[in-house]
Amino acid sequence: MSELFQGLLINLLFILLSILLLNLLILAKHNIYTYRFGKLHLFLMSSLLMIVSILLSVKVDEGFVYDLRFIPFLLGCIYGGRPVILGLASVMILIRLPFGGNGILVTTILAVIYTVVMIYMYPNLLKKPLYNRLLLFTFLSFLYSVIGFLIPSILFDFDQTFSYFIYVMVLTASTFFVCYLCEVLRTFHLLQMESIKFEKMETVSHLAASISHEVRNPLTVVRGFLQLVHEHSDTPEDCKTYTSLAIAEADRASEIINEYLTFARPHPEVELPLELEQEIQKCVEIIRPLANKQGITIETAFLHNHPITGDPHKFQQILLNISKNGIDAMKSGGILFLFTKEDENGVHLSITDTGIGMTSEQVARLGEPFFSLKGNKGTGLGMMVVYRIVESMRGTVHVNSKPMKGTRITLSFPIEETSNT
Ligand code: ADP
Ligand code: MG
Repeated sequence: MSELFQGLLINLLFILLSILLLNLLILAKHNIYTYRFGKLHLFLMSSLLMIVSILLSVKVDEGFVYDLRFIPFLLGCIYGGRPVILGLASVMILIRLPFGGNGILVTTILAVIYTVVMIYMYPNLLKKPLYNRLLLFTFLSFLYSVIGFLIPSILFDFDQTFSYFIYVMVLTASTFFVCYLCEVLRTFHLLQMESIKFEKMETVSHLAASISHEVRNPLTVVRGFLQLVHEHSDTPEDCKTYTSLAIAEADRASEIINEYLTFARPHPEVELPLELEQEIQKCVEIIRPLANKQGITIETAFLHNHPITGDPHKFQQILLNISKNGIDAMKSGGILFLFTKEDENGVHLSITDTGIGMTSEQVARLGEPFFSLKGNKGTGLGMMVVYRIVESMRGTVHVNSKPMKGTRITLSFPIEETSNT
């Protein structure tokens, strides 16, 4: 019996060591943003751990081996998604085959049951609060160990009560411990990302405050004189092309500076009731020429009743920045859909495009200063400004995006209570 206990503990040791080692490796890569622990990595890693576990397994009775391979399986399923779940279930059955015996049947039944359960639960798993999640994982593992011992005892008259007890205890406790460790490490990474983002924000904030004003005034003067040269009747035609280019570039520069300025002064100076419908219509009029040029249809729907509060000018900027990103994402045409609705939580404005979409890593970085995938064409400031302004309006931004499908950005604002009085 102590053999089973020891075997399981060695199993646990290997699993823990691999998880810690993996995390050290990720941390050693200083730029954790560029590090992607993709689904394939996850699948390979979990499969490897399952193989190690089964190699270290303990034989309890003729044809049955016991180990902790369920833990890497569970971890892979939790973080990997559907393809990984199916892959790992197959691996689980395949690696059991060489050991022979009636245990193959038990493993197959368990693999099938857990594939179905995990595929069904996966979409909501990571949204649950930490402790509920941990409890659920522990319960799943408890159930696994119980079934893993019940089937043999019923079908093959397998009678090992004490081993049964040890196996259930060790597997359940280990699952709790390993899952807890993984969650703690995950939180740690997220916090580290947040702190890097925060530092960048600080830098931008300082830059914005100190430089923007100094640059904006001379730029206005330069633009003014260029305009005069452009409009002067003595200017030859070819010079006019140059001046119009110069004016366009000066405008772009001042646009960037304006975004910095918004960042430095995110708090609305004016708080007016905003009629969402009017503001959206205004924005649509501004972007319609651009959308038409790219074959994009703009649709709107308004299902809200209350106004919100904020600075109309800044609100326009949010709308423009988001819609512009949507249009940029639809190079070969599509639909930009702006719609509002209302519920007890507030007023929600969704801006949906059918463009190239983003991966979850890109969504996580959205709003970070200088994050742009548009090369020279982008500044990486647009969404940062959106987040800042929405925050200052006591609202929230929610991003939903699928690569090659499209993006939906939902802004939620509290309802202005005094609006009816
Ligand atoms: P910029 O537009 O100047 O690049 P933003 O902060 O507005 O900066 O956007 C940052 C990046 O996020 C963009 O470069 C783009 O890659 C991505 N992005 C933003 N909105 C969308 C969208 N609707 N669809 C696809 N990608 C988007
Ligand atoms: Mg943009």
